[in-house]
Amino acid sequence: MPLLVMKFGGTSVADLDRIRNAARKVRAEVARGYDVIVIVSAMSGKTNELVGWVNETSPLYDAREYDAVVSSGENVTAGLMALTLQEMEVPARSWQGWQVPIQTTSAHSAARFVDIPRTNLDAKFAEGFKVAVIAGFQGVSPEARITTLGRGGSDTTAVAFAAAFGAERCDIYTDVDGIYTTDPRITSKARKLEKISFEEMLELASLGAKVLQTRSVELAMRYKVRLRVLSSFDETDETSGTLVCDEDEIMESKVVSGVAYSREEAKLTLVTVEDKPGIAAAIFGPLADAGVNVDMIVQNISEKAAGTDKPVTDMTFSCPVDQVARARKALEAARDAGNINYDMLEVDEDAAKVSVVGIGMRSHAGVAARMFKALAADGVNIKVIATSEIKISVLIDRKYMELAVQALHDAFELDNAG
Ligand code: ASP
Ligand code: MG
Repeated sequence: MPLLVMKFGGTSVADLDRIRNAARKVRAEVARGYDVIVIVSAMSGKTNELVGWVNETSPLYDAREYDAVVSSGENVTAGLMALTLQEMEVPARSWQGWQVPIQTTSAHSAARFVDIPRTNLDAKFAEGFKVAVIAGFQGVSPEARITTLGRGGSDTTAVAFAAAFGAERCDIYTDVDGIYTTDPRITSKARKLEKISFEEMLELASLGAKVLQTRSVELAMRYKVRLRVLSSFDETDETSGTLVCDEDEIMESKVVSGVAYSREEAKLTLVTVEDKPGIAAAIFGPLADAGVNVDMIVQNISEKAAGTDKPVTDMTFSCPVDQVARARKALEAARDAGNINYDMLEVDEDAAKVSVVGIGMRSHAGVAARMFKALAADGVNIKVIATSEIKISVLIDRKYMELAVQALHDAFELDNAG
């Protein structure tokens, strides 16, 4: 029997009507001849409420009990989904993580999959059940405690089941109808993509296109699970939404597929640090230890310190705005300990990052030049540039962020599918 995984996010199961609507989509796939594994999130807002209750009860909570509480939202929707399907005469059974069992590490609230044995579900399908409904986001540790996978983890549950059961596809039903060339709130010219490669999706997901949990895309890429993102509020068929797939499946791709942004960035410059071996390690080691997510790094040209022969330079890097205080503290501590020296720490908290992403960049020259020209034409000054094989990012003044996204979307003609 061919098998599909269908995942419904919180807004898609927000109340009983929506659960019925989702169940109808499951029933349609069963009618097409599929066995279906359904992964459900908690009703929207539920997990936040549970997290709130934990924090209010015990600010320094025991992580095992946090997981016991916050995993419960998914148990409710799994049972309700199975009941709804049964009411529609679709043979369905629900499963909590421990019943499968979804084996994970014991890293509570950030657990990782160890194994998903097929035996129990396969036996149920063999008995004639058509649908297994699985509570997303949760698993069980080697110590037999309930674990959770981190916020947004149901996406990852869905991909893991699709990989374990060799599903034909993993359909992620959500409240948007696909992946767009950029955020439609920033430009009405944003266009829904028919297909996008795993690698591009990873760049977009980690850059803040919050449709899929980044880890789910990593897992899909590793196991080549074809993912489809589509809206549970629309009438849908096999062609709906956006397919996230291997690049071999994408016949011709444009040079740039999307423009991503991240609004809350900061630029920090250590002015006059010694230019000698080990200095970068002495700066970025303590930042990493302090949990600062350093993104772009630029080391400026070297000069001789005034009146001496000693080479000095400036070191610039970017990180999320809300980590600036932590970064400052880590750097000051390193200076006090005598591990680094600098004259001044300049902090610019009004930055944003804009990136163009596309696998086509691998084989096309001139993408950077085109990008910089478009920004220059709109008078946007670039503070820092970083590139990877399929991405070019610039740090700019936050007040120009929308303008830059629009300019780049136009410059790379992303509104036309051609
Ligand atoms: N309910 C969990 C959360 O809100 C997991 C998920 O929905 O993916 O983070
Ligand atoms: Mg989600």
